[in-house]
Amino acid sequence: MNQDWRGVVIRRLLLLIAGCLLVGLISGEYAWSLVVGLGAYLGWTLAQLLRLHNWLKHHQTDQPPPDGYGLWGEVFDSIYHLQRRDQRVRGRLQAVIDRVQESTAALRDAVVMLDSDGNLEWWNRAAETLLGLKTPQDSGQPVTNLVRHPRFKDYFELPAHPEPLELISPVNDRMHLQFHITQYGNGEHLMLVRDITRMHQLEQMRKDFIANVSHELRTPLTVISGYLETLLDNVDDVNPRWLRALQQMQQQGGRMQNLLNDLLLLAKLEATDYPSDNQPVSVDLLLLSIKGDAQALSNDRHRITLEADNSVRLKGSEAELRSAFSNLVFNAVKYTPDNGEIRVRWWADEHGAHLSVQDSGIGIDAKHLPRLTERFYRVDSSRASNTGGTGLGLAIVKHVLLRHRARLDISSVMGKGSTFTCHFAPAQVVRR
Ligand code: ADP
Repeated sequence: MNQDWRGVVIRRLLLLIAGCLLVGLISGEYAWSLVVGLGAYLGWTLAQLLRLHNWLKHHQTDQPPPDGYGLWGEVFDSIYHLQRRDQRVRGRLQAVIDRVQESTAALRDAVVMLDSDGNLEWWNRAAETLLGLKTPQDSGQPVTNLVRHPRFKDYFELPAHPEPLELISPVNDRMHLQFHITQYGNGEHLMLVRDITRMHQLEQMRKDFIANVSHELRTPLTVISGYLETLLDNVDDVNPRWLRALQQMQQQGGRMQNLLNDLLLLAKLEATDYPSDNQPVSVDLLLLSIKGDAQALSNDRHRITLEADNSVRLKGSEAELRSAFSNLVFNAVKYTPDNGEIRVRWWADEHGAHLSVQDSGIGIDAKHLPRLTERFYRVDSSRASNTGGTGLGLAIVKHVLLRHRARLDISSVMGKGSTFTCHFAPAQVVRR
């Protein structure tokens, strides 16, 4: 095409020069006829260029370029085709954007797009109902100004968000929302918000049900245990043959009481996010008293050692920490055969404070470790009933640690022993 036009232009130019020379031959003024001929050609070319310039500068969208002749006509046509192709591509893109926007607008979940600084860029209709965002006033506002909750701010500033966050809606106290943030592109954020009020209500019903049942069962059980104790004290007056049966009833009654106590404690832990008490606790003294109880439980069948840094204290609830730590130490006693060794350590470093309970006991197979802190999860049910465990001990530990911004690490080798380590965040640690 290019090659064609170059030939045509050269041919026409040569034709023009030949015409001029012919006029020069007739008139005898070669120079003048060349000047006039080429000048006219230059003027015409400039006029076409000016038309193009005017069109580029002032044309309305979709207005086609002007008609032209020769090479200029070809240039105008090419521009026109480019323009049409661009319009078609734009139309297709707009259709895709419209479809995406329509489908996200129809979603019941809120979808919010944020730039890399956390400023609002786009949101769907559900975001207006769930979060109270206003179009267009809130565009460009930082999201932390609109969802004003310290936990949301902390969550938003995390480098990654593998877990969702649950909060009360900023527009309705009775609405519970679940926030999920994903990063994409150049640090932009996509925030998905779901209404989980119904799920929350069901969860609350479950918690209330367990708490109420445990509470209601406690009184009859106390009465039954009381009578059993009296009967056992006077078994000879009743019938000595009943002794074994009464002893077993009392033992099972004790187990039921432990179970109810653990269930009530779990219900209490679940009722709030943070412990009401946040005083520095002397963990060394706490561990010393737990060690005494563990020695009584072990009956000198194990060697129990304690190394605790008395300068490191921990902010939190002493009662909750006592039940978590004693569960770990008592488990070590329960699941370590006679003459085994149990080592309890409490120390702090730049990562925070740590408590480890190491035993030389039976150990736990690696496949059980991820589920160990679930309620009533047992590695071996026959073994658990021998030890009198409730199956709730580690669930209590997990909840207490969550409330104290800590996490539990479990490592174990079958037949060699296990180590349970609690890691507390530096913010929870108080140095004496
Ligand atoms: P339980 O009341 O049955 O001890 P836990 O929640 O405290 O319930 O523990 C769950 C299970 O984890 C136990 O049944 C036991 O099999 C296992 N386990 C816990 N601690 C240890 C340990 N120190 N050594 C071996 N197994 C353990």
